[in-house]
Amino acid sequence: MNGLMMDYPLTVTSLMRHVNAQHGASEVYSLTVENPAHRTRYAEIFRRCAQLANALRRLGLKPGDRVATLAWNDYRHMELYYGVSCMGGVLHTVNPRLFPEQLRYIINHAGDRYLFADPLLLPLLEKLHPAFPAVERYVLLCGKGALPESSVPSLISYEELIEGEDDNYDWPELDENTASSMCYTSGTTGNPKGVLYSHRSTVLHTYASGLSDIIGLKSTDIVLPVVPMFHANAWGVVYCAPMVGSKLVLPGPKAGDPEALVAMMNAERVNTALGVPTVWMGLLSYLDASGQRLETVSKLVVGGAACPRSMMEDFETRHGIEVCHAWGMTEMSPLGSVNAPTAGSADLDAGALLAQRLTQGRAPYGVEMRLVDDNGEALPRDGKAVGRLQVRGPWVASRYYRAEESALDNGWFDTGDVASIDSNGFMNITDRTKDLIKSGGEWISSIELEDVAMSHPAVGEAAVIAMPHEKWAERPLLIVRLKDGAAADADELIAWFEGKVAKWWIPDAVRFANELPHTATGKVSKLKLREQFIA
Ligand code: ADP
Repeated sequence: MNGLMMDYPLTVTSLMRHVNAQHGASEVYSLTVENPAHRTRYAEIFRRCAQLANALRRLGLKPGDRVATLAWNDYRHMELYYGVSCMGGVLHTVNPRLFPEQLRYIINHAGDRYLFADPLLLPLLEKLHPAFPAVERYVLLCGKGALPESSVPSLISYEELIEGEDDNYDWPELDENTASSMCYTSGTTGNPKGVLYSHRSTVLHTYASGLSDIIGLKSTDIVLPVVPMFHANAWGVVYCAPMVGSKLVLPGPKAGDPEALVAMMNAERVNTALGVPTVWMGLLSYLDASGQRLETVSKLVVGGAACPRSMMEDFETRHGIEVCHAWGMTEMSPLGSVNAPTAGSADLDAGALLAQRLTQGRAPYGVEMRLVDDNGEALPRDGKAVGRLQVRGPWVASRYYRAEESALDNGWFDTGDVASIDSNGFMNITDRTKDLIKSGGEWISSIELEDVAMSHPAVGEAAVIAMPHEKWAERPLLIVRLKDGAAADADELIAWFEGKVAKWWIPDAVRFANELPHTATGKVSKLKLREQFIA
């Protein structure tokens, strides 16, 4: 027997209707190149979404057509998020920091018909547009007067595109499984792969991120996603904040500028901010050097790469800001787990509690996790067994865009991460499969070694990679960028590990670099480090 409840599709359009009805007056602050302090409200954003949808219909956008963005976090990008998805198009967010060759591959593979770009990225477009034969129309995210002379064909400003369009749009009743947006993974091996989100997956992910033990936003919160809207939906914040009515503070092109971030956070009274560890490390150094304080921030959500212990301690003890560790991936929309205490956490001593808080946390309802060994056999959740982490759930990818084959292994998505899970559900990542170091037949966790290295006062950034070894097959090599003005030699750094990890885990050698290479998403690129230091 079926239940007799309404068949109410879970769509971004229904989310937009809800936000309009309940939180239309909540504020959205953005930094943009032309207007350093732009203020608007959700209702105004959705009004302009309708104008955008009318303009795109006039240009001939058909259901399912892909619309690319190369843009920072600001209100116009948000209008594209809702306008394109709700009219039945697919918003394709593209990371402007990718190499030209990756951009060419991604935009052509996705078959984008329209491309919207930030004015700061015009030089990139001028160089690359001949490589995008399928793009019919280029739009620069600026006002009419700010549109420069350019060699990009058919270039028009965003404001001119939507000017004079009707601010009502008859939003279609979409099936909840309709594609809403897409994002390519950076593809550390092989070509980038397209993850195609649906309205349903987006809405369910949004609901889950609102849970108290996940991001837990409230109407009174003021939220700054430093994590870019071009990468994994800014961790869902551009959906979740409007859903509950939080004020959004969008940093535009200033996401990598600690001074601008601190000023914005204090002036707009931000209480929650989200970003990768690299961003928060930079911010910490800036706070230390300038003597400034974050006056209103109470919570930082850190994810995308492991949160270093020293960073959590620094923010919490010296700045009184709670650090909340999260894990996810583009294929998971992206949230997979967030660290929040259980009732039992209160019984732990300080050391055990910190160790628990440094894990990647627990999965919300909607993410099932399991560990398997190399034969695909399930491993126990005892906090000790370490295996390949697999996941499944309604916001996990099942197949990549235009791929023939399923992305699943017996119904599970293999994350490429290696982890343990304890009996309370706390998941702890020790490595990525391809970064593991196998010494004398035993695994060494590069993440744990990096964490120890980063706790040394002179170390600004650290990475550990496997170095080929005659006897042990592989041994850990530590690569370090020292903090400005700090000094430490290899012997001192190696001695730092004594008593902190098993003796045979201690790196054999240390190399110093002025800069560590990063991927387009701000993570240390071990691929490049291997090319640089191993070859
Ligand atoms: P990419 O940057 O490779 O395009 P993602 O941004 O989707 O892809 O990265 C997902 C990967 O990032 C995860 O599989 C995991 O290896 C790593 N990651 C994300 N969050 C964490 C975390 N909190 N701790 C350790 N690793 C993390």
